[in-house]
Amino acid sequence: MDDRELSNWKRAGEIAGRARDLGVRMVEEDTPYLDVAEGVEEFIGDSGGMVAFPVNIAVNDIAAHYTPKANDRLRFSQGDLVKIDVGVHIDGCIGDTARTVEVGTNTYSSLIDASKRSLDAAIEVIRGGIKLSRIGSIVERTMNSMGFRPIINLTGHSIERYRLHAGLSVPSYDDRGTDVVPAGIIVAIEPFATTGVGEVVNGKRSNIYKFVREKEYLKDSQNSALQMIMEEYPHLPFSERSISSKFNKGEKITNGLLRAQAIYSFPILREISAGMVAQTEHTVYVTEKGCIVLTR
Ligand code: MN
Ligand code: MN
Repeated sequence: MDDRELSNWKRAGEIAGRARDLGVRMVEEDTPYLDVAEGVEEFIGDSGGMVAFPVNIAVNDIAAHYTPKANDRLRFSQGDLVKIDVGVHIDGCIGDTARTVEVGTNTYSSLIDASKRSLDAAIEVIRGGIKLSRIGSIVERTMNSMGFRPIINLTGHSIERYRLHAGLSVPSYDDRGTDVVPAGIIVAIEPFATTGVGEVVNGKRSNIYKFVREKEYLKDSQNSALQMIMEEYPHLPFSERSISSKFNKGEKITNGLLRAQAIYSFPILREISAGMVAQTEHTVYVTEKGCIVLTR
């Protein structure tokens, strides 16, 4: 990639890191989830970035794919274990990063630490030519040594312009795979640590959607919303909030587009045994000798 493109990846990563930390600081007892999501997304825009996906706020045994609705009423409670996962892009170059914070207690500090340390260990070893399964093995061993399990069906992923999941998966255990990481690519590494058995299942549908296909014979309001989606979110996920900010009855329109299969809803992901879940994530640029962490 040329210098100009790399500078977009760096700038997106830098804004994503600051947005993530702002989100983490905003998480307090009684604060509405919606305030955090809107505060972070506003910060991204003010900083010159674009929201690459709606801010994910995943609490306790929910691992990912929750974002508040426009009329969301949920607030943080004492003892909640909160994952803030943020995506920023500049000209399609995406920074994807997450951290976990506990609300007012320290019950799960070592679980949070297990996800953080296993990410650090992965960053330590990643370089062009390393096997993905080797990274997974190191993540798993780090977590096991601290008494926790990785979630085996959530992985890190390579990223390309406007493609959040670009083909390569970074496992959190030794999956015996033989694929290697080539130098010169962008990878998000995101080990999830849990007190449970280590697997997520699909729960209810979330408020996070992606465009699927254009449809004929839609109602006018649905058609206008779909045109907006095709213009602004042809490749990347969006939330019901971004429909509701531009259209009356945004939730109804969103439901209609979902029924028409013009858009798809990501399911909320829960730990199968209701174990608590912690996640830490950085986006890195892989080099011959190691990597550059873009979302510090
Ligand atoms: Mn993420
Ligand atoms: Mn990711």
